[in-house]
Amino acid sequence: MSLTRGVPRPTRPVRPDARAAAMRKDGGLDLLACTVADLEGPLESRTRAVALRRFLIDETPRVLPSRVSGVAQSAWDRLRTASFLPTWSEVSRTASGDGTLKLAVGLDDATVETVLIPTSGRSTVCVSSQAGCTRRCDFCATARLGSGRNLRAGEIVLQYLVAASAATDSTPRNVVFMGMGEPLDNLAAVLAAIRALTDVLPGLSPRHVTVSTAGVLPAMKRFLAVSDANLALSLNATTDAVRTRLMPHNTRWPIAALLGLLREAGERQPKRRFFVEYVVLSGVNDAHDDARRLAELLHGIDAQVNVIPHNPFPGSPYVAPERADTLRFQQQLKARGVKSIVRWPRGADVAGACGQLALRHVGQAGTDRLDG
Ligand code: SAH
Repeated sequence: MSLTRGVPRPTRPVRPDARAAAMRKDGGLDLLACTVADLEGPLESRTRAVALRRFLIDETPRVLPSRVSGVAQSAWDRLRTASFLPTWSEVSRTASGDGTLKLAVGLDDATVETVLIPTSGRSTVCVSSQAGCTRRCDFCATARLGSGRNLRAGEIVLQYLVAASAATDSTPRNVVFMGMGEPLDNLAAVLAAIRALTDVLPGLSPRHVTVSTAGVLPAMKRFLAVSDANLALSLNATTDAVRTRLMPHNTRWPIAALLGLLREAGERQPKRRFFVEYVVLSGVNDAHDDARRLAELLHGIDAQVNVIPHNPFPGSPYVAPERADTLRFQQQLKARGVKSIVRWPRGADVAGACGQLALRHVGQAGTDRLDG
């Protein structure tokens, strides 16, 4: 029986830049970021390529094995010497009372956080794209870590595999790039990781992959031109003065330019759906006028607003809104015809909610520690 049974050939074109990022690093092949098609050439067979890909996905090995069942030894030996896997370990696993699981994944010279968010029948994995972040969003814990390094594509795919193997109910079918880092500051690796995740195996749909950006305009243009995955823009304010205070890079790529891009892209690609994220910071961006301006700003853009109550962290200068204030803000958007949902925090008790990922460990004495 052929191992390729039930595994269709990919129909989407291979994107040259994503492919390049998956292929070469120090002369080696980033094996976890390779698609079946990438492996077909080196292994001289699609059946072997599928067998290897299945093995990598099912086992998530830490080292390249000497043999892979279903792959001819000589072909594997050749590929093995020309490729690498991420060095990794599970540093910690913290379960939240609401079922969210925060995993700290140790890489060769960095630790990143990955969050598994179970929701009945459609679990989501939130992956990190960088170890740290160079954007200085004032309300985000990851920004306090400062710059880390860009993750390689295989290290992003790895996070999905590690979280999927920790899932106790269904295999996660959604991936959001909302963990540590600014994905569009690491665009080539993010595109390569999406390409591998949406390959025939593990076969996620691009419609179930969402990349969230703090608003890096040139990379947003590129992303929208080459990727079918969803884009979420973290807007977080309705005036440039407030947004610049919260997100200093707003001086370079202000609100009108960001939303202008979404409007144009929506006209060119009418099927594209956008998400606009809005972290509610009590007394800063949650006034009635903010709701009115947000509705006006989004006019002509097919976007769903994800209203996110601020998740506090030690040292955060902002106050989380009351539940009623968050609902009031959403109601004001609804009244103006804006599609919106509230993303109530998941995993907040283990610092695994949006903007809390900063390698924080709750110490035994109940004290918090920021390291990195
Ligand atoms: N750098 C990317 C992705 C990481 S942040 C971005 O900015 O989109 C993922 C989401 O969490 C963003 O929408 C961000 O605005 C939100 N976020 C950051 N800090 C937060 C906090 N303390 N509370 C709630 N949401 C936060």
